[in-house]
Amino acid sequence: MDLVEFQGKQLFGRNGVPVPPPGTACRTVDEVVAAAEKHIGDGATAVMVKAQVKTGGRGKAGGVKYAPSVDAAREHAEAILGLDIKGHIVNVVYIEPASDIAEEYYLSVMHDRVNKGHLIICSREGGVEIEEVNRTNPEAVVKRTLLPAESVGGLNIGTARGIVAEAKFPADIVDETAELLVKLFAAYRDEDATLAEINPLIKTEGGQVIALDAKVTLDDNAAFRHDGFSEWKIEGIDADDPLEAEAKAKGIQYVKLDGSVGVLGNGAGLVMATLDVVAQNGGRAANFLDVGGGASADAMAESLGLVLKDPSVKSVFINIFGGITRGEEVANGILEAIKRLGDFPQKLVVRLDGTNAEEGRRILEEAASDSVVAAATMQEAAATAVELASQA
Ligand code: GDP
Ligand code: MG
Repeated sequence: MDLVEFQGKQLFGRNGVPVPPPGTACRTVDEVVAAAEKHIGDGATAVMVKAQVKTGGRGKAGGVKYAPSVDAAREHAEAILGLDIKGHIVNVVYIEPASDIAEEYYLSVMHDRVNKGHLIICSREGGVEIEEVNRTNPEAVVKRTLLPAESVGGLNIGTARGIVAEAKFPADIVDETAELLVKLFAAYRDEDATLAEINPLIKTEGGQVIALDAKVTLDDNAAFRHDGFSEWKIEGIDADDPLEAEAKAKGIQYVKLDGSVGVLGNGAGLVMATLDVVAQNGGRAANFLDVGGGASADAMAESLGLVLKDPSVKSVFINIFGGITRGEEVANGILEAIKRLGDFPQKLVVRLDGTNAEEGRRILEEAASDSVVAAATMQEAAATAVELASQA
């Protein structure tokens, strides 16, 4: 789960990572005006108006503005609320007392899947994309992988100091930044994040080191340890696809895509191959759903119901390889699903193979449902499903 910036800063703050003074999340221009009045009244020389969307590069897209007055904050809020930043509509802006920047750096901790550890990246150049710095000025970027066994008690302060010094941070802030890195690492670990990125980390005119931006991804596999991360869910920002949300609630693996062929298969590998074969036949999947290993009649009915609810689905490709799930079970599941779902216009192109596939095919044939089109091979099924979708 991705957090937006102001949530990332809350998470940093409660773990001792220095952040700017707390701001206010706002949904309307009026709320922005009230927040700007409050922060400026409290002594801020200016406020930042910052789009809260789950994508980077907000500044470049016009989603981060400096406002030295309440009027300026109002104008910026009018421009930013509703703005489309890389497909994310801005529903929330964060009004934060502005910081003065002397220098911008970069600091992050993330899962390093290749090396099975934690990757720390530290750069004395920040505020721009780290990939860019890495390309143009690689010696400014220090990368260090920490194996789990090396970080049992957290990140050692000596190690942190070494990393920061190697990135050639100004001598007067090496200790402070190293302490910040130790806390960032602890936050990342204790909050079960897979990414905790600060870009830019800044030195203020007063010489303080603080996180001016925050990008945090929490590990969904650890949600059970954190009450499902419920504290971070905010309306309007987590605009999950409603069907994806319904699937998640039912424990079904469902992903929304942008084509017109609904894809239902069993097992992640087969489902991926199904997407490929749909594409090879000139079609595009509208979604995909993995009914899993033990696809019972119930699971099949539930899954098919979900796929058909997606209005962009014009045909459905059901691709099942019977293993643990036997062919006759699948066939009965499909028939049961058709009975439960009543009338629907889309055809179901069914390719059944594996354990008891013949029995399954016989059951489907005998039922002679108008909704079912049998296919002998995966290729034939894909071609048929794509053809039906394009006719619909
Ligand atoms: P991003 O573009 O999505 O990474 O958003 P950031 O939060 O990193 O902001 C983009 C840029 O805006 C930063 O690199 C800063 O240069 C600038 N900026 C952000 N906050 C402040 C602030 O409080 N004061 C000043 N002066 N500039 C800021
Ligand atoms: Mg940034």
